[in-house]
Formats: sequence, C-alpha cells, structure tokens
Amino acid sequence: MAARDVPAGPPASLHIDWTLCDGRGLCTELLPDHLTRDDWGYPLALTPVRADRSDVPVPRAAIGAAREAVALCPRQALRLTLHD
Ligand code: SF4
Repeated sequence: MAARDVPAGPPASLHIDWTLCDGRGLCTELLPDHLTRDDWGYPLALTPVRADRSDVPVPRAAIGAAREAVALCPRQALRLTLHD
C-alpha cells in the first residue's frame, strides 16, 4: 500500500492520566463530543484509539478546547500530543 493510501489518523491525541485525575469532570465539559465519564466521574474517550480509553483522538476543530482542558485541569492529568 502506498503511503498516500494510508488513512490519516487524528491530528492530535489527548492522554488522561487517571492516577492524577480527581474525577470531577471539567475536561468532559470542555470536550463533550470526545469525552464521557465512568460511574466514578473519571473521563473516558468516547472514541478510543485502543481498548484503553485513556487516549482520546482529537480532531482539528477540537484542538483549541483540548488545549484549554490541559491548561485548566487542576491535577495536570492531561497531555496533548500533536501528530502533524
Ligand atoms: S479536568 Fe483533569 S482532574 Fe478534572 S476530570 Fe479532567 S483529567 Fe481529571
């Protein structure tokens, strides 16, 4: 398969470190189309990259909100990685 035939992945991804998270859900309010909460309030990817729902694919239109979530997270539990 030629490189141009490989489907492009999301331009960014957001990683949630549940060991730091307080589960109050500020990030889920900022990214309601990409995050949900489990029964204890911890954020989960709505569309997981892998079976582990701690990695959230972030489309270009949501990068601003993801940056805001990283900046406002009170536990510094979020990390945004840009892929391009
Ligand atoms: S904003 Fe940070 S501490 Fe709060 S739920 Fe999201 S990841 Fe957890």
